[in-house]
Amino acid sequence: MTEQGTHTKRQRTCISCGVTTDKATLMRIVRTPKGTPEFDAGGRAAGRGAYVCSSECFAAAMKKKKLDRALKTTLDSDDYERIAACVASYEREVRE
Ligand SMILES: [Zn+2]
Repeated sequence: MTEQGTHTKRQRTCISCGVTTDKATLMRIVRTPKGTPEFDAGGRAAGRGAYVCSSECFAAAMKKKKLDRALKTTLDSDDYERIAACVASYEREVRE
């Protein structure tokens, strides 16, 4: 792991509850250059990203279609369900 300046912690905001915290503690959803929305477990995929702090916040963002706005694309319910499953399993891993 390379550190690019330990003093510049990358802060990001949860699109659902608005909490601002370190990038590493949030989960990233990315719109890939192909235009496909995907869960980005590593947080480094190319494309426009949006962050949520928990699966609860993802569910809330899903209800309010906040992800559509954040990623400037239209997600259908299949996209939301696919990403929700990834968010949930990632969260389980992290909490164990
Ligand atoms: Zn949140």
